[in-house]
Amino acid sequence: MRLGFHLSIAGSRLKAISQAQVLGCQALQIFGQNPRAWKWRPVDPGEIRDFTRARRRAGLGPLMVHLSYLANLAAPDPVLHQRSAARLAQELALARDLEADYLVTHPGHGELTEASFRLAAAALAAAVSQVPPPPLVLLENTAGQGRELGWRIDHLQRLMELSGVELGLCLDTAHAFAAGYDLRSPHGVSLLLGEIARGPGLDRLKMLHLNDSKAAFNSRVDRHEHLGLGSLGLAGLRQLLAHPWLRPEGAIMETPKRHPADEWRNLLVARSLVPTLSLPSPG
Ligand SMILES: [Zn+2]
Ligand SMILES: [Zn+2]
Repeated sequence: MRLGFHLSIAGSRLKAISQAQVLGCQALQIFGQNPRAWKWRPVDPGEIRDFTRARRRAGLGPLMVHLSYLANLAAPDPVLHQRSAARLAQELALARDLEADYLVTHPGHGELTEASFRLAAAALAAAVSQVPPPPLVLLENTAGQGRELGWRIDHLQRLMELSGVELGLCLDTAHAFAAGYDLRSPHGVSLLLGEIARGPGLDRLKMLHLNDSKAAFNSRVDRHEHLGLGSLGLAGLRQLLAHPWLRPEGAIMETPKRHPADEWRNLLVARSLVPTLSLPSPG
């Protein structure tokens, strides 16, 4: 499992690559655009060329683009829904230009009804039909804060079925914990992985968001914390990562950035959590 961070593209996308190298990342997540603005800033082909070249040279991968926060794929308002669906397609096309492996999105927010799932599925289907994989679109489980959908695995499973297109999963450990999957206990880990296995399938689980949770278990609050310093804790994270069913390609940390040394510490902790491969004994 390759480890990395979500890194800022403020200034330039290239900067995220050099920062990832300095930190010793293997994987990387970025936003495609400013995540808090609808305004689309076209990306210069030269910048895309420099970015893909630098990324290849750095041996960074998987590369994942996180969809902007403003898009709500389940928006009942037709104007906002259309805008969100268009944004998803546009960011997916940009992710393809950047040679990203994945684009990760939250399912959206609204009433917990079949109509909401149909809206989100329609937006996903439209985007993936316009820009077929790669990159593969991954649905992220949420903490279920406010009216956020996608905090149960069966929500994500329903979206995959309704969309009728190829989608994958990104499992956020902090979100799962806050949503009521108690990863501190072997039972909670089995429950979560069992739901994935019986629903979308473990092979659909491509990436992790490896975060501790500042919010309490089952609080339905989305607050990330440094690995080992939250209410999920090291024992829970270690137990999940050691589970033989869990085989994602990469894990991205979206831990707080309060101090420049935070990333070093989180990466060291993450490395200590990932089970090392046992080498076959000679002869
Ligand atoms: Zn996440
Ligand atoms: Zn979160």
